Formats: sequence, structure tokens, C-alpha cells
Amino acid sequence: MNSVVDLNQLKALKGKYCNSLNSYSRFVTREVKIGDIAMGAHHPIRIQSMTTTDTMDTIATVEQTIRMVEAGCEYVRITAPSMKEAQNLAEIKKELRNRGYNVPLIADIHFTPNAAELAARIIEKVRVNPGNYIDKKKFQQIDYTDSEYMQEVERIQKRFSPLVKICKEYGTAMRIGTNHGSLSDRIMSRYGDTPMGMVESAMEFMRICADLDYHNLVISMKASNPKVMVQAYRMLVEKMVTEGMNYPLHLGVTEAGDGEDGRIKSAVGIGTLLEDGLGDTIRVSLTEEPEFEAPVAAALAKRYELRAKQYELIKPETDNLQPEIILPATFDPYSYKRRKTHSVENIGDHNVPRVIIDLSNQNLKDPFILSAIGYNYSATLDKYNMNEQTADFAYLGDALPSFSFPGNLKQIYNYSAWKSLSDKQNAHPIFSVEEYLNADQRDATLNFIETDIKVFFESSDEVYNGFVNALKSDKSIVLILITDNIHGMAEQRQFIFDLLNQQLEVPIIIKRSYSTITEDDFMLDASTDIGALLTDGLVDGLWLQADEISSKIINSVAFGILQATRTRISKTEYISCPSCGRTLFDLQETTQLIRSRTDHLKGIKIGIMGCIVNGPGEMADADYGYVGTGPGVITLYKEKEVVKRNVPAEKAVDELINLIKEHGDWVEPLL
Ligand code: SF4
Repeated sequence: MNSVVDLNQLKALKGKYCNSLNSYSRFVTREVKIGDIAMGAHHPIRIQSMTTTDTMDTIATVEQTIRMVEAGCEYVRITAPSMKEAQNLAEIKKELRNRGYNVPLIADIHFTPNAAELAARIIEKVRVNPGNYIDKKKFQQIDYTDSEYMQEVERIQKRFSPLVKICKEYGTAMRIGTNHGSLSDRIMSRYGDTPMGMVESAMEFMRICADLDYHNLVISMKASNPKVMVQAYRMLVEKMVTEGMNYPLHLGVTEAGDGEDGRIKSAVGIGTLLEDGLGDTIRVSLTEEPEFEAPVAAALAKRYELRAKQYELIKPETDNLQPEIILPATFDPYSYKRRKTHSVENIGDHNVPRVIIDLSNQNLKDPFILSAIGYNYSATLDKYNMNEQTADFAYLGDALPSFSFPGNLKQIYNYSAWKSLSDKQNAHPIFSVEEYLNADQRDATLNFIETDIKVFFESSDEVYNGFVNALKSDKSIVLILITDNIHGMAEQRQFIFDLLNQQLEVPIIIKRSYSTITEDDFMLDASTDIGALLTDGLVDGLWLQADEISSKIINSVAFGILQATRTRISKTEYISCPSCGRTLFDLQETTQLIRSRTDHLKGIKIGIMGCIVNGPGEMADADYGYVGTGPGVITLYKEKEVVKRNVPAEKAVDELINLIKEHGDWVEPLL
């Protein structure tokens, strides 16, 4: 058994919440044994998911579990809402073992300590939610005195300790899994629905475990908003280390939704933490069959296995050149604040982050190519119709189009090509640093300079000083940051921190290029690399490049990342639960139906939750909610308020739309 905390690591927590902000270093946690498969310490990042079948249907649950294992799940979680389901875990486990599957099983518990205590005697791990393990949620604001608060904590200790003792006796592991939106009234009253509330909620349970000398713990801090989720995990790590704990982290974004949206949202939240070396196991929650989740989680994890190995082999030169950096005084990793920049045309300051798409290799004789980036050309009218995801800039390199671009789509040319343009309206140059410093002509309003961190270390003093002076004095510059570092996000972040420390307010566009990559990996890698910087408010736009990927997909992924980080809203957001054994309707089918009727409602957040037990809490920040309350009946919410109870399922989508209309959020779809 390793020690409670690695003191060297404690000292090395230079990033405040992670080992390092500029080199890849995994936060090494305590090893936790879950059946035959250990996690934490130096074990690979483990993959897991949760069944959606009725736990009482032994064969269906066993068969789904097997499909999940075949798809890459190393642990499988099964809901146990009451004693009978907890008891049936024994049958499920027996049948799985009979069929030769030794996968560790996890009981998912909400509100039912007796079911947890039974399950802990049967299977390898239990998950408890400190927000509802003991407390019943009544959405009350209660003002406790300190002594009343302590009495509450003692009450929890009394009720929770029996489970801890059983886990200790049976060698059962436990996840203390806090969810944003299902915090207890007590925690909400004192800390609000905040990352700090999430951390404190878990810490209360963790301290009870530590007092009982039980350490087979895994911790999670999930939210459907990746920013909240990232902040909560970071705060948890700092708090754990301060209190001498280093339990493994289970990463997940709850209710991520389905398809591209669900994958991008998951990658933004999970990937941001993995980049900083945090995370020991991943569950990606998609409103799809659970066997589709494991490959996404595995793709996210694999990048860091490779990262760790590559990093040992070829440490980037900048590692040796740079001292370990510390967080700039103006940057807070626990709350979102956009980096202060001045505006250059429509970039920076309070402008939404901008999207640049490379069209330099496209057929620039054909205006229909622009439909891939949101501008649909009508030949009859000779005009463009714009959708909600129109790119802001097209990079054309040295190529000149033979048709007129829409007024909203500005063009970026290589410096030499730009110089030769007779009409420079809506056209801007892109320079290298040296080109910019030696240029005899610049644009009056907007000049892009493309560079990477090496400029700071490899250029002559003359170039370096000239560059920094230009950033200070020329308010028409927008920096485009590129990288070929294997740990590129951190390198780019380091560069931006440097600008923050020097109080340079130049806007930044992040450019990332990907080669020999599949569409799925492109989506996940780009969401991680750019999402991590947007989540911290550090950048003013993005430029994704990948030769094998169509500009339509690139544009869609770019806007998906902006939506997931809530930095630029271009579509309806669906907060739909992944479903489980509690689900009261067909979530996938219903989500698709609701999506087909509402996906033109830009900026509206709709929660679609399978059950009333967890749904209302977990769709915490949705504008409207569609929640299963019983077989064939749905309850509709406006934010956290119930507005229509027990609506027959066949009428519920129409009623949801009526509700949206009543609140003035409906617009008719364009035909
Ligand atoms: S909200 Fe969905 S995933 Fe969560 S417990 Fe209810 S049905 Fe299961």
C-alpha cells in the first residue's frame, strides 16, 4: 500500500492543482483495488461505463455488460435503486462469472443506504452520491449556525459509517461521486451550487472514511457544464493534497448528450483535466448505447499513455529552456474569467471567439464551396444565405478566388499575395514575425502574425525585442499561435501566461494542425487542445487544420467546441442523461424527437432526463426540462420549477413546445 500522499508530489504541485503547467506529468494517486483490476498510482487510465437495462432483468443486464466489456469497459456500473436490485446484483455477478467474465461490478446508489450496505457485501465497488446518500432534497435554504452544521456532519457520520465499515471488511472499493445539481440543501445553503460546494460535499464523506482508516476510495466531481466540472476537479486536487489525501479521480461530464455534441463536450471537460495529468478512470456519458461510450473514453485516454511515453523519449526543448512556471496573479483556475484583450476589428475584448477556416486548397472558382462553412449560395439570386455557424475568416494563402465572397466572411492572405491585391477591402495579411518586422506595407486595421513559443527562445535579441515592442505598440495585431510540441496545449498556455505576466493585451487565435487522423480522433483531439484554453478564457478564436478532414466537419467541430465551452452559442443545447436502469422512457428516441422539433432554437438549453429521482437536479442549468415521472408520464420544468406534472408521454413533446412558446423562447423554424 502506498502512503496516504506522496510528499514529493505535494511539494511539486507547482501548478497549484497539478504537478506541472508546462511539462506533462501525471498526478500520481493512491492505488485502489477494484476486484482484479487496480486503478490509480501508475496503472493505465481505466475505462468504464454504466448499464441501461432494468437491473431486475438479469440476462439483459448480463448481456449488455458483456457487450460493454467487449467494447473496452474495464469496470461496469449497474444501478441499485432499492434492496431488490442490490440483491439481484448477486445473480448478475454469478451469471457473468459463469460465462467467463470477471469484470468488476459497481453498484450505483442514490438515497438508499440499506441498498448500498447490501451491495457492498456482494460486488466490488459501490458509488454513493454525498448529495443524496443521507439527505433528502427539499430545495430549502437553511441558515445553520456553525454548531448546528457540525451536528449535521455528525449525523452523516453516524449514517455513513456502517457502509464504510462493511466496505473495509469486504475489501469493497467506493466512489464518492458528487454531481453539480444534486448537492444537499445543507451544502447548497452554505456554499451554493458551486465547485467549492461540490468539493466540500465530497470532502465531508472522505474525512469520515479517513477517520475510519478506509482508503479504498475514488472521487468524482461531475457536471454537465465542462467549465464547472474542470474547476471542481482542480479545486478537489488542491484540497485533497492540502489535507494529505491522494485518491484516484474518476472523470466525467454528465448528461453530455449524443453524437458529435456529446463527444465534443466530454472531450472538452475530460481532456482539459487529462492534459494537466489529472484522472485515473474515465466514463463518457452519451445518450447512446453504453457500448458506444468505451471507445470514446479509450481514445481520450490513449493519447496520454502515448504522451507519457513520448515525453520520456523526446522531452521538448522548451522543457530545458523554461523554468517551471507558476500561475499568473491575474489567473484563477477555479473560476472563469476571459483574458483581457483589446479588440482588433471583430476579434478580442468582448467579441465572441472567432473561427478561421483554411480554404486555400479548395476550388476557388466555385461559390458553392462556402456552404461547408455556413454560407449557402443561391445561383438564382446570386446571394448567400447564412446559417448559425458561419466561419468569420477564410484563409486563402496565395490563391485568389474568382467569385465575390459574402461581406461577413473576411479573407486572410499570405503577406506577399495580400500586397499584390488591387482591392484590399475585407482582406488582411498574415505574417511571420520576421516578415512583420521587415514589412514595408501593413494593413491599417488588422494584421495577423503567426508564431509559436520558440520565437521567445530561439530568435535573436533584435527579433525578440522588436516583436515584444510591436505587441505593445501596434493595436492592429492579432497573434495566431501554432505549435508542434507533443504537449502543445500547455506550450500555448505558457505563452499566453507570459503575455498575461507582461500585461500584453493582444488577442490570440489558437491554430492546431492534425495529420493522418480519423474524423473521430480529430473531433476529440481538437476539443481537448482548444477546449482546454477556451475553458480558461484564454483565447479569442480558433483555427483548425487537417488535410484529411472536410472543411464542413472542421467548421462544425470548431462551433461545437465553442458551444461546449459556452463561449459562443450557435445551437440548441441538449442536456440529456445517458439513461440507466431507472429510465422511464426511450431516451434515445425521445431525444431525437425533441431535437428534430427544437434544434433551431439557438441558445436554449433543454434537459431530457430519464427519471425524477436524479433528473431535476442533474439538469441544473437547463432552461426547460422533460423528465420521466412514471411509466408513460412526463413532468415538464421551466428551469427548476415544475410547471406541468404527469403529462401523458404521447402529448409531452407538444406540451414542451407550448411551454417554450408561453415563455416567449419559440421561433418558427426556417423552411
Ligand atoms: S437521470 Fe437518467 S441516468 Fe440519471 S438516474 Fe435518472 S434515468 Fe438514470
